[in-house]
Amino acid sequence: MRILVQKFGGTSVAGLDRMQMVMGKVRNALNRGYKVIVVLSAMAGETNRLLEMASKWSDSPNRAELDSLVVTGEQVSISLFSMLLNDNGIKARSLLAYQIPITTNDDYGNARILHINGDRLRVLLAEYDVLVVAGFQGQTEDGRITTLGRGGSDTSAVALAAALRPDAECEIYTDVDGVYTTDPNLYGKARKLPKVAYEEMLEMASMGAKVLQIRSVEFAKKYNVPVHVRSTFSDDPGTLVTQEDSSMESVLVSGIAYDKDQARITLRKVFDRPGIAAALFGPLADAGVVVDMIIQNTSREGHTDITFTIPQKDLKETIKLMEQIQGELGATEIAYDSDVVKVSVIGVGMRNHAGVASKAFAALKNEGINILMISTSEIKITCLLEEKYGELAVRVLHDAFRLDTHDYEG
Ligand code: ADP
Ligand code: ASP
Ligand code: MG
Repeated sequence: MRILVQKFGGTSVAGLDRMQMVMGKVRNALNRGYKVIVVLSAMAGETNRLLEMASKWSDSPNRAELDSLVVTGEQVSISLFSMLLNDNGIKARSLLAYQIPITTNDDYGNARILHINGDRLRVLLAEYDVLVVAGFQGQTEDGRITTLGRGGSDTSAVALAAALRPDAECEIYTDVDGVYTTDPNLYGKARKLPKVAYEEMLEMASMGAKVLQIRSVEFAKKYNVPVHVRSTFSDDPGTLVTQEDSSMESVLVSGIAYDKDQARITLRKVFDRPGIAAALFGPLADAGVVVDMIIQNTSREGHTDITFTIPQKDLKETIKLMEQIQGELGATEIAYDSDVVKVSVIGVGMRNHAGVASKAFAALKNEGINILMISTSEIKITCLLEEKYGELAVRVLHDAFRLDTHDYEG
């Protein structure tokens, strides 16, 4: 049995006419001899609408109940789409996560998939040509509803394909026709990449390119599931996210990512002694707050300043936690701002080349853009900037590495 997992995002299922286009993609796969698992998101804007509704009812909604609420968006999409398929002579049924089941841990709002019952899917696929699965949702071992984090339908799709290896392939359909050198909605000169390595896509996703959820790329890499990113609205072959090969290594920089959902926290004059960093970052890790960039200033008279960045959505909770341990750390002040943006230059080819960082810094300097923080990995350079410079920085870096015309090779 050859199985194709096809995931469609919110804009692709936003109305009847869009769903008819989706049906065209499904029919095409059936004609090519596949059984199809369609993973759908909620209609565009629906998840946000539900979250806003919850925030009117409660200042800090119970996380399990919030998940029960927001999963309803996907239930609407899958049942409507299954009706459409059946009316058009395609044998299909909808499936919520608990009906498979897709089992997760109990980290409500950000749950991790632990297990998917692939055998049950195979049995159902013998009976139906298409299974229409609700993305974004799971259930705990004791049967409570969970969600996989914003953009989580991508992860549902890749995890389903992984569970059905080696028979399944995975396509992610969205409103752009592939992965670009930078967000094509931000910079018109962005160029579509035919292929991206898992590692690069991981960095791009974690640095703000929301075209794929980070965890979907982690899954794809771990289980070696090639992921095709394509457009619902064209027949373009799109981008293949796959294992690194030598052609990718010869390309120095493959993309520029941009993330404005960042906040910066500075703790002034904390004690400079062993255990302080652990006391500071331990509680944040326990609360599930992902800290990205960290800077510790040079020590003066036994004290130092520590600055770090976090996702903006975690700002309130982080400040609360910092206030609880302020005394223990000796901090005289907790300062924060969210008018910052993270811009990253990414490419596996950087591993073997020097000079990328200095070129990026020079390009920013030429535009008078001040860098607030810097962090690097083997395949990435990230700069934290004032928010007002974010889009300019993307354009400047994109031009500096000539990403619009060809792959910059130093
Ligand atoms: P969906 O609802 O289909 O899941 P998303 O809005 O989550 O779609 O992701 C698609 C969006 O990702 C695009 O519209 C685009 O603005 C954005 N994006 C950010 N970075 C990139 C990139 N490097 N390549 C392509 N799209 C990107
Ligand atoms: N509907 C969810 C969201 O908006 C999941 C998804 O679209 O992938 O985040
Ligand atoms: Mg998405």
